[in-house]
Amino acid sequence: MPVSLLGAAEIRALASELDVTPTKKLGQNFVVDANTVRKIVHAAEVQPGDRVVEIGPGLGSLTLAILEAEATVTAVEIDHRLAERLARTAAAHGVPDGALTVIDADALRVTELPGDPTVLVANLPYNVSVPVLLHFLETFPALDRGVVMVQAEVGERLAAPPGSKVYGAPSVKAAWYGRWRLAGTVSRQVFWPVPNVDSVLVGFHRDPDPRGTEDERRRTFAIVDAAFQQRRKMLRQALSSVLGGSSAAASEILERAGVAPTARGEELSVDDFARIAAAAA
Ligand code: SAM
Repeated sequence: MPVSLLGAAEIRALASELDVTPTKKLGQNFVVDANTVRKIVHAAEVQPGDRVVEIGPGLGSLTLAILEAEATVTAVEIDHRLAERLARTAAAHGVPDGALTVIDADALRVTELPGDPTVLVANLPYNVSVPVLLHFLETFPALDRGVVMVQAEVGERLAAPPGSKVYGAPSVKAAWYGRWRLAGTVSRQVFWPVPNVDSVLVGFHRDPDPRGTEDERRRTFAIVDAAFQQRRKMLRQALSSVLGGSSAAASEILERAGVAPTARGEELSVDDFARIAAAAA
C-alpha cells in the first residue's frame, strides 16, 4: 500500500487528540499542506533507499512525505506526546515496518543515530535552528547533504557569501562544513499556526574533505565569534582579546595569516579564518 500524506483536518484532529496546543517555545508550526512537504522532499532529492534523519517530525507531515519517497527515516522529536504518537500515524498511512525509527530526545543533545543517516531533511524548530544544524553537522560526519526549512532571515544568512550584508558568524560556521544554497521560499499560509515570519528552504552539500580537526574547528569558531561580536571594528581591534592580548600582537598574527589587519570580519572567507587560527596556534 502506498504511503498517504496527512491532510489539514487530520493534523488538527491529531493535535486535539494529543491535547497539543502548538507552542512558540518549541517552535511548533506544523505544515498542513501536502504540496509543501513534497516540495521539500523534491528539493532534497530524496531517492528510494536514502537514509534520512529528520529533526522535529511533529505530527508527521514531512515525515510521511519522506517515507512516500521510499527512504527510511530516523526522526528526533523532543515533545514526548508527538514522539510517542508518530509510529501509529505512520502505520495508519501505509508506512512499512522498519522504515521509521523515532527517537524521543532533544536534538541538541543527541550524539548517536541508528542507521547512519546520510541525508538531513527538516522543518527546523526556529528557536534553535542554527545550533541544532551545527550540532548535527559536527556530530554526524556521515550526513553529506540536506535541505532544511528555516526562518528566511536565517536561511539567507546561512547561504550568504563573504562581503554580503547578512554574512555573519552562522555563514562562516556553516561554510566550514560545505556549500549552501537557497532552495526556495515557503508561504506562511501552509503552517498551523501561521507564523509571523517568512520561511525559506536552504540546502547544503558537505565538502568531501574536512577543513580541519575538531581542535582546529573550535579555535577557528572562537575567532569567528570574536570577529562578528564587533563586526564594525577592524580585525586587529576586534580580535585583540583572542589573538595575543593587544592590537599589535593581533596585527602580527593576521599578517602571518596573509590577512590585512585593517580588514573586517565580514570580508573574510572561512579559509581566511582557518588560516588566522592556524597562525595563532
Ligand atoms: N516537521 C513538522 C512539520 O513540518 O509539520 C513539525 C515542524 S515544527 C517547525 C518543529 C518541531 O520540532 C516540533 O515538532 C517541535 O516539537 C520539535 N522540536 C523543537 N525543539 C526540538 C529539539 N530541541 N529537538 C527535537 N525536536 C524539537
